[in-house]
Amino acid sequence: MPASLISIICPMTTAHIIDGNALAATVREQLAEHAAKLRQQGVSPCLAVILVGEDPASAVYVRNKVQACEKADIRSLKDVYAADVDPATVMRRIAELNADPSVHGILVQLPLPPQFDSDAVLEAIAPAKDVDGFHAENVGALMQGMPRFIPCTPYGVMKMLDAAGVPLKGAEAVIVGRSNIVGKPMAMLLLAAGCTVTVCHSQTRDLAFHTRRADILVAAVGRPRMITGEMIKPGATVIDVGINRLPAAEGGKLCGDVDFASASQVAGFITPVPGGVGPMTITMLLANTIEAAERSL
Ligand code: NDP
Repeated sequence: MPASLISIICPMTTAHIIDGNALAATVREQLAEHAAKLRQQGVSPCLAVILVGEDPASAVYVRNKVQACEKADIRSLKDVYAADVDPATVMRRIAELNADPSVHGILVQLPLPPQFDSDAVLEAIAPAKDVDGFHAENVGALMQGMPRFIPCTPYGVMKMLDAAGVPLKGAEAVIVGRSNIVGKPMAMLLLAAGCTVTVCHSQTRDLAFHTRRADILVAAVGRPRMITGEMIKPGATVIDVGINRLPAAEGGKLCGDVDFASASQVAGFITPVPGGVGPMTITMLLANTIEAAERSL
C-alpha cells in the first residue's frame, strides 16, 4: 500500500523539523552582539579564508562563509589561489596570517589539489587560530574532553540537539560516517554528553541493525537518501549532515543522506536538507572566530 494511503487511513507520527535556518539566525544575532562588544574593547574579530583551485562547491562554501561574516559584522580576508599554485606560497601566507595579531581565525577550504599535503597545511595553522578545529592539538584537546575549538559541523549539531531539548544522557547515539571533520568529533561530543556511541562506516556489517537501535542517529556519509524510514527507530532524533547534489535527470536539487519522505514518518525530530545542519556549520565557524578574538584579549 502506498505510504500516502497509509497515512490517510492510519495517521503515523510525523517528525518535528529542527529548523537550522531559524536557529542559525537566532545564534548569529547573539554573535553579532558579542562581536560589537569586542569591538568596543578594541578587538575587531577577523576570519581569514584561503581557497585553492576552482572547485565549484568549495567556491560556494567560501562565498557563504565570507557573506556570513559580513552579516555578523565580522571582518574577513579572502585569499584565492590557482589550482596549480606552489604549496610553499600558501604555506608562506599561512605563516603571515599566524603572525598577524589582527587576524583571529584561519580557515583553509578543503579539499586541496593533489600537489598539497593537506595534513601539513592544517598543521601549519596556529592552533590558537584554528577555528575549524582540525589541528592535531585541538583534536587532542577534544579527545581529552577539554575542547578549545570544536569542529563546526558537529558543534552545530550539538546546538541543534540542545535547542530541540533532545535528552542525551544515556541515549543510544549512532553515527554513520567516521571522517575527521564530522563523524569522529561528533562521536567525541556525544560521548562527552553521556550518550552510548556507535560509529558505523563502509565496512559495518549490518548498518540497519545499528541505526534501528539509535535514539539519536547522525548521518554523515555523502550518499543521497541512503537512510530510509525502515532503518529508523520510531521517535528517534535524526540529524542529516549529508549534502548531495542529485543528477540533473532527478532535478539537480540538494538532498541529504536521509530519505526525508520516509524518515519523517518515523522519527520524532529530523533536520531537513537544505536548511538543517548546513547553516549551523557556518554559524559555529563565526562562533569559533569570535571565541578566538575574545581569547586574544
Ligand atoms: P567522508 O567522505 O570523509 O566520509 C564519509 C564516511 O561515510 C566514511 O567514514 C565512510 O566510511 C562512510 N561510508 C561510506 N559509505 C558508507 C556506507 N555504505 N555505509 C556506511 N558508511 C559509509 O565525508 P564527510 O564526513 O566529509 O561528509 C559526509 C557528508 O556530509 C557529505 O555529504 C558532505 O558533503 C556532508 N557535509 C556537510 C556539512 C554541513 O555543513 N552540512 C559539513 C561537512 C560535510 P569509510 O571511512 O569506511 O570509508
